[in-house]
Parts: sequence; structure tokens; C-alpha cells
Amino acid sequence: SREWRLLSRPVGWPKPEDFELAEAEIRRPGPGEVLVRNAYVSVDPYMRGRMSSAKSYVAPFELGKAMQGGAVGEVVASEAEGISAGDHVLHFGGWREYATFDAGQAVKVDPEAAPLSTYLGVLGMTGLTAYAGLLRTAAFKEGDSVFVSGAAGAVGSQVGQIARLKGASRVIGSAGSDDKVKLLVEEYGFDAAFNYKNGPVAEQLRAAAPDGIDVYFDNVGGDHLEAAIGSLNMKGRIAVCGMISVYNNTEPAPGPKNLARIIQTRGRIEGLLVGDHYDLQPQFVQEVGAWVRSGELKYRETVVEGIENNLEAFLGVLRGDNTGKMIVKL
Ligand code: NDP
Repeated sequence: SREWRLLSRPVGWPKPEDFELAEAEIRRPGPGEVLVRNAYVSVDPYMRGRMSSAKSYVAPFELGKAMQGGAVGEVVASEAEGISAGDHVLHFGGWREYATFDAGQAVKVDPEAAPLSTYLGVLGMTGLTAYAGLLRTAAFKEGDSVFVSGAAGAVGSQVGQIARLKGASRVIGSAGSDDKVKLLVEEYGFDAAFNYKNGPVAEQLRAAAPDGIDVYFDNVGGDHLEAAIGSLNMKGRIAVCGMISVYNNTEPAPGPKNLARIIQTRGRIEGLLVGDHYDLQPQFVQEVGAWVRSGELKYRETVVEGIENNLEAFLGVLRGDNTGKMIVKL
């Protein structure tokens, strides 16, 4: 069984030499454990943080050991009550072909109810992030004008569509290619979208949202955050979900120069962590699951094949190779 290990902590952009694809023995499950053959493995931007030793909300990956991450697979052997061979489970033993772990860390999923990969994306962690971040952190309400960055990605594409379905007055998105911008408007029903690489974000946002914005869902940080503060309406809310533009920085990024506008607008900037919002999971799956089934909410996945391409898939997320959730199929 092959597994990806972190050999050294990347400085700046991760390099192939920082990692190794190693052979590992498949361990038989002990009491209470299951052995799972992974079918789909997730790669996510937050994993960049775990490659560094800086203190954060999840422990750093251990050097020389298999990395972790979301994965869905089939149980091939079980010594745990309530889970048997043939069951499918969502768990955290990603970046590897086979994983043996305590059954308490696994959640059973139904391959008949939805394609297995969706438990990592539209109906999984990134979907819940979008749902909780928009509805709870940003306190979205009908009639709000909503701007989301990283809008063609897993979280962002769902934020924009949930806002539209819940009665936003205007939904604006930004993304890094003209094709992605076209997708936002034509397939996801955004009212306006722009390519942040085509010109200053602040100018493009002002043109796309001449009446300002009530909510900004931040996936990017940097000049996007500054632009959003500049366009924020009275009592505007900014949910800070991610800051992917700074994850590979070796120096701290400068803060927004116009922060005083938060006083003028009585605005609010609040960070969010999906792990705080799992109480919304049943409501999220019910509501978003229905929209996915009816076709009112659309999603894309970029699927890379083969464990040997797990690292490239991860780097691809940081580069923007993906449209929708980036997934590795084994
Ligand atoms: P995405 O599917 O959105 O993939 C990341 C995207 O970021 C890329 O496709 C790329 O798209 C864009 N990107 C990369 N570099 C830059 C840059 N310099 N400026 C602007 N955009 C850039 O990933 P996710 O949906 O999984 O995650 C989105 C964000 O949400 C991330 O910041 C992530 O860390 C965060 N997150 C936070 C969670 C939490 O609990 N707080 C949980 C899950 C995710 P493009 O082509 O448009 O540049």
C-alpha cells in the first residue's frame, strides 16, 4: 500500500522534494478498528497549514509519517461493532491507498444516496463550510448583496448559489480565469463575475456591485479583502473563511489599508471554522441535498486519477487548476 509522507516543512511553495510516496504495510484491524481501501481522497488548501510547524487549529503533519485528510473508501475488514466489510465510510485517513483506524473516526455514507465523491465536496466539509459561513457567520438575510471570492472553487461556488437560492438581491463572484467567470454567470446564476487577474479587484468589484455589498465571503484575503471593505454597505458582514493568497507567503502579508471603513459602516469581520458548525450538518444535508437532486444547485468536481498524483492535485488547488472540488480518485 502506498502513502504520502511529509519529509521536510516547505518554505514558500511546496516542492516535490518535501514529500515522498512510500510503501507501507497494510495493518490488520485490531479490536474496534477497521481497514479501509480508499476510493476518493480529498486535497484541500488547509493542508498547506499542516505542512508548517506554526501553531494552528489542527496539529502539524508529523515528518516521516503518512499525511492525513478527508477520504471515502470501502471497508475491507472490520473488528468494530456496527461496521462491516462492504460498508462505505468517510474518514480522515487520506493521502494513502489503505488506512487502518479506530471505527469511531469513521462515518458511514451511502453510495446509493449520492456519488461517493460528493461526501468530500458538495455534501461534505466544503459544502458545510459554505452553508454555515454564509448563513451563520455572515448572518445572510434575504435581499443582501453578496460577494464571494474563489467563486469557482468548492466552497465559493456553493456560497454564491446558496445566496441566490435564498433570495440575495445580487450575487457577485471573482475567479482566476475567464472560463471560470463564464461558468459563474452562465451555469451557477451569479449576477456578475470578474477575473481578478484582469485588473485591480477594487475597481472590478465597484463596477460589478455599483450599490455596494452587504456580505463578503472571503476565501482569498489580500487585495480581495481590502476591496470588499471598500465596497461594504452599512452593517455589512465579512466572513473570513480562508486566505489562500497568502498561504505560501514567507513574510506576513500587509493588512487592509482601509480598515477604518469598518467604523463608518458599523461592519463586522468574523472568522469561521467549519469544525464549529457540525450541529448544522443534518439541516445542511437536507436542504442542499434537495437542491442538488432538483438541479437548482450545480456543482463541479476536478478529478485527478491515481495516488501517485495526490501531491500534484494538491499543488493544483493552490494554483487554481480546479473548478469545484479537487478530488483524487484511486
Ligand atoms: P477551492 O476549490 O476554492 O480551490 C482553491 C482556489 O483558490 C483555486 O482553485 C484558485 O482558483 C484560488 N486561488 C489560488 N490562489 C489564489 C490567489 N492568490 N488569489 C485568489 N484566488 C486564488 O478550495 P476550497 O473551496 O476547498 O477552499 C476555499 C477557501 O476556503 C480556502 O481559502 C480554504 O482554506 C478555505 N476553507 C476554510 C475552511 C474553514 O473552516 N475556515 C474550510 C474549508 C475551506 P482561481 O482560479 O479562481 O484563482
